Amino acid sequence: MQDCLFCKIVRGEIPCSKVYEDDEILAFRDIHPQRPVHVLVVPKKHMTSLASVAPEDTAVLGRILQKAGEIARAEGSVEGFRLIINSGRIGGQEVDHLHAHIVGGPNPVGPMLQH
Ligand code: 5GP
Ligand code: ZN
Repeated sequence: MQDCLFCKIVRGEIPCSKVYEDDEILAFRDIHPQRPVHVLVVPKKHMTSLASVAPEDTAVLGRILQKAGEIARAEGSVEGFRLIINSGRIGGQEVDHLHAHIVGGPNPVGPMLQH
């Protein structure tokens, strides 16, 4: 995906504050952190949204979940964290490359939804 922002970050064309990388996923700090710990975890392969993933994406999605705790702890969110995957227009997704937000820090992140 030539023009996708997170594909450009994966390719190193746009800099990021990287916190973890392996063959399948990249984790980097959010440019506008909403909590003391705010990391985005993306599959290196472009996929648009959790609303439209394919069966062959199961392993990489599992890896994002499996690595989240380790990444959160390494960033200093040692007593837990929240994982958020905004999906599609209804979910408030702004960047159309699937990404999980890890948010946390020393204090509770707050209510799950605010009305
Ligand atoms: P969404 O609303 O799509 O779930 O979240 C997109 C997130 O990407 C936002 O939290 C926003 O701050 C972050 N973001 C947007 N552009 C950049 C960027 O160029 N670099 C980084 N590190 N984060 C970005
Ligand atoms: Zn992409």
